[in-house]
Amino acid sequence: MKRAGIAIDGPAGAGKSTIAKKVAKKLNYIYVDTGAMYRAIAYYLVTNQIDIEKETELEKACSSIFVEIKYENDLQQVYLNGENVTPYLRTEATGNMASKSSAKAPVRAALLDLQRDMAKEFNVVMDGRDIGTNVLPDAEVKIYLTASSKERANRRYRELLEKGETADLHRIEADIMERDERDMNRAIAPLKQAGDAVFIDSSDMGIDEVVDKILSVVYEKLQ
Ligand code: C5P
Repeated sequence: MKRAGIAIDGPAGAGKSTIAKKVAKKLNYIYVDTGAMYRAIAYYLVTNQIDIEKETELEKACSSIFVEIKYENDLQQVYLNGENVTPYLRTEATGNMASKSSAKAPVRAALLDLQRDMAKEFNVVMDGRDIGTNVLPDAEVKIYLTASSKERANRRYRELLEKGETADLHRIEADIMERDERDMNRAIAPLKQAGDAVFIDSSDMGIDEVVDKILSVVYEKLQ
């Protein structure tokens, strides 16, 4: 099969990372989670108490941030200025900040080349919000993966309960809708379906069903 980039975009909670990981494993490609890169910058901004509404403060912060991606036991690890920050990226505070700071130009500029360079070096399955539209506009395969906000909230709710945490379904859905709104309406690289992306609504589909659907698109396009 030809060398390729596979872009999977979609809103928060659509199952992109679970599915992208499985697709990558099946194809022996590298999975690149760009959301984790935005979360790494957000972690820096939170821990250093940067006011992201102050342009020069944010620019200065972004110029002192160095994000690196490494793979350890096949798992993506995100390094921030030499420190592995992967364990701190999935917290509520980091996620919230990532959703807001990712709309800012210096934050997006800090990550664009890193993402493009990875796709130049490896066969990648890269997931995010703007991969097919902005990061890899020439990706051989583009998928837009979504699900209803109700279903995405339900999945997140079940996930939290399984971890033994308490959760409020209505709050989760409201939060998801707020993040969609920010991702879809920002001025720079908003979330939208690329003209040449294959649309998949996973509301009524299982994980393996979605993986199989994406693999069938890949095999068809890359033959
Ligand atoms: O996908 P995940 O929830 O980990 O992403 C964290 C945040 O980073 C999202 O809320 C989104 O706003 C932002 N993001 C982005 N562009 C990407 C990937 C993520 O703006 N390519």
